[in-house]
Amino acid sequence: VEGHRNLERINTNRVRGGMALVLAEGLALKAPKIQKHVKNLKIDGWEWLEQLISGVKSSSDSEEDEETDGKPKIKPKDKYMRDLIAGRPVFSHPSRPGGFRLRYGRSRNTSFAAAGISPAGMIVMDDFIAPGTQLKVERPGKAAGMAPVDSIEGPTVRLNNGDVLRIDTIDEAYALRSEVEEIIDIGEILINYGDFLENNHPLAPSPYCFEWWIQEYRKAAPDAETDEAELKDPTQEVALDLCKELNIPLHPKFTYLWHDIDNSQYTVLADLISEDGLLEADGSILKLPLQRTIDTGMKKVLEDLLVQHKVNDPTLTIQEPLPFIYSLGLDKRLSKGWDSLEHEELLENINEIAGFVVRPRAPTRIGARMGRPEKSDKRKMTPAPHALFPIAEAGGNTRSLEKAANFKVNTNSKAGTIPVEIGNRICPACGVEGFEFRCDCGEYTLPKLFCPRCGISVNKAKCPKCDSKTTCTSMRKIDFKSIYQKAYANIGERDHLDSFKGVKKMMSKHMTPEPLEKGILRAKHDLFTFKDGTVRYDMSDIPLTHIRPSEIGVSCERMIELGYLKDIYGKPLTDSEQVLCLKVQDLVISYDAADYILRITQYIDDLLVKYYKVAPYYNTKHIDDIVGVLLMGLAPHTSAGVLGRLLGFTTASVGYAHPYFHAAKRRNCDGDEDCVMLLMDGLLNFSRDYLPDKRGGQMDAPLVLTTRLDPSEVDKEAHNIDMCASYPLEFYEATQNIANPKDFEDTMDLVSSRLGTTLQYEEFMFTHDTSNIAAGPLKSAYKTLGTMVEKMDAQLELAKKIRAVDAPDVAERVLTSHFLPDMFGNLRAFSRQGTRCVKCAAKFRRPPLTGSCPKCGGRVILTVHEGSVKKYLQVSIKVAEEYNVSSYTKQRIELIGYDMKSLFENDKSKQMGLSDFM
Ligand SMILES: [Zn+2]
Ligand SMILES: [Zn+2]
Ligand SMILES: [Zn+2]
Repeated sequence: VEGHRNLERINTNRVRGGMALVLAEGLALKAPKIQKHVKNLKIDGWEWLEQLISGVKSSSDSEEDEETDGKPKIKPKDKYMRDLIAGRPVFSHPSRPGGFRLRYGRSRNTSFAAAGISPAGMIVMDDFIAPGTQLKVERPGKAAGMAPVDSIEGPTVRLNNGDVLRIDTIDEAYALRSEVEEIIDIGEILINYGDFLENNHPLAPSPYCFEWWIQEYRKAAPDAETDEAELKDPTQEVALDLCKELNIPLHPKFTYLWHDIDNSQYTVLADLISEDGLLEADGSILKLPLQRTIDTGMKKVLEDLLVQHKVNDPTLTIQEPLPFIYSLGLDKRLSKGWDSLEHEELLENINEIAGFVVRPRAPTRIGARMGRPEKSDKRKMTPAPHALFPIAEAGGNTRSLEKAANFKVNTNSKAGTIPVEIGNRICPACGVEGFEFRCDCGEYTLPKLFCPRCGISVNKAKCPKCDSKTTCTSMRKIDFKSIYQKAYANIGERDHLDSFKGVKKMMSKHMTPEPLEKGILRAKHDLFTFKDGTVRYDMSDIPLTHIRPSEIGVSCERMIELGYLKDIYGKPLTDSEQVLCLKVQDLVISYDAADYILRITQYIDDLLVKYYKVAPYYNTKHIDDIVGVLLMGLAPHTSAGVLGRLLGFTTASVGYAHPYFHAAKRRNCDGDEDCVMLLMDGLLNFSRDYLPDKRGGQMDAPLVLTTRLDPSEVDKEAHNIDMCASYPLEFYEATQNIANPKDFEDTMDLVSSRLGTTLQYEEFMFTHDTSNIAAGPLKSAYKTLGTMVEKMDAQLELAKKIRAVDAPDVAERVLTSHFLPDMFGNLRAFSRQGTRCVKCAAKFRRPPLTGSCPKCGGRVILTVHEGSVKKYLQVSIKVAEEYNVSSYTKQRIELIGYDMKSLFENDKSKQMGLSDFM
């Protein structure tokens, strides 16, 4: 505390008692909520809340949407670009043409702060985005988890040979990736209405897309027999006929991004095609002289419009060009039917000239950069123990239990007798003392408390004599060798484990260790324990509402056994390609997680048979055998597990589960990750007695378990998910005027409207399907690339390729927000550092005069190395030069370079060669 120090009534000058937490997280963040309660309860003296709330609102609302000449507009926001990190690329600068094009809708693996992009786009953008990767986004929220959705448009690229084409499939993406010269447009991003509602974000204008067009078509031709597949991808003739016959806008397939070019570019383009274009008699192909389109800048304009074309020097050809030609106000003989443009807005002009309505194709772009990479990995503490058994220094730095069993305090002492801090317990039945939780007689032991000050044994939390806290822990010598040998003998295992590690010290209050047998069996199955005795696996949360049996590796027969009888259309399940509604407590986990869970089931069976001497429970051999086992989901910072059932597997590095399930764990899916554990493991091996005796020690532990998931009890955010098969026409129209999402709360089929009925669990739908929930790269390139310099190179390489990204700006941001602070920090840390013993890891503020560790005689070294201070200097200088960053940033790098030089180089004693004097 800076001010008001040394107050008599307050016994410390530290920030204390969670005051900061209450003020910041409690009062400031939850002011509206508190106000609600204060008003309800009619408590006086809280009027100042009003000021706090209105103050917050006025500053944030004004930046949202702006009115320019009477028309509401969505303003670019660059908040997501802050704190850029090396190796995590920017995919689009704020609202820039070429960035993600917003498309409204929900796929079965999106919503609830997860958005969909084309898996082809993931691949074309150098594998940086994989399923589960978090992106920081411009809107509607701050971040979103990414899921593959292949029914939306992929990226449009220019290849080395000049061809411009859109890549929608994974096969094309892999085939063409190495030939991509520029990514002109990174494709669509699918965001559902519910995410706008949840974030209370005004509805940004929808692009003209098939879902919108088909509704205008149906309205104009209510009786027409429609074949949706054919209408989705019509020929140019059909598209133009429909415009004419039904007087509906031009099909989105042939609608180009006219809003991205201006009147003069439009005029030049129309003139060029009129003068030099050559249209095949049947109107199927338009040929243009390549060199002229380049010289006039019209090749780039074609690219900006996303008009796909092929280059075959000296000709540039456009397939199905008629709607494009008409949109330019030309006729079939390519003669221009207009002289001047009247309106400032190009689209208005086109709508007058073309003879049909052309809607904006990509009015909303969403900026994005990479946040956290996806996760699917075992939970390991550092260093990772197999058993919660304390061995102090006896196991060395690796905490090896085998080493501890043979440890000698000095050459004359008995091997394996080691001093550790451990809790003393006493058996209430036979009075035998020890540290084990259970006495040899079978009775459960109790902690044997004593007063550390008076030394007397007391059976209370406080000493009656001196009022100090009692404890049961003390330093004592234990015969670890015989404990070790007995444990192996007890479960009939041989001592030939590759690695078997314990902990230095128990963190819990009573310091009662686990039975060592549990650790032996964990090590045997290559499993690690968490601080509470459970084995866990972490995965990124991604929502999933529907599945196909084929994609999760489970047969129809097994699905039927698990209760999946009918598909979404009510047809009995017979084919593994049918789409089924996911039951809300079923989980689809990564194959790596499945392998780990399989080993946990085998460990539990071993434990049941060999340690508890009862029958095995799981009897598993193959991952097919673990389909249907019960798991527990648990999020960090919470203490409530949620019961789940393992349904199937995915190659994606994520944990797919129903949004309700994620919400029950108090997560949303904006890049969060949490863990699953086997239910039996939690029931058998978890104990509160292992939990660390410090603030937060009770967190991230399954203290309670939710067995039945009631949607009305989960986080309200999950109630704002839309479950409809399509969005109404009025919705698309209203977005053009930046409508308030609340206006559609009653129109959209939200979860909130289904609560309390059976429909809260079933008959969900989605607007966009995806053929494979695991499509795309298996892992983000961020994880597969090696050093930070390699990551940064790849990031800048991608920045140069994407048209919507300004590479020098990325370079500058990485330097100022990552490398420079890192270098300044390390430089400062170097001069303030302490020293550390390599052998026992004891830390010293100053190097001991003897030069060796006073505790164990080990070598004492510095904790911050010269290398870690200098590591980013060379790359910073290189990047600053290559991307020509601002001179201010360049000078900052230069200055810190001088600082380092003066610190590490002694300029008085410079070594010189003989040649220096000649
Ligand atoms: Zn006993
Ligand atoms: Zn006492
Ligand atoms: Zn030492």
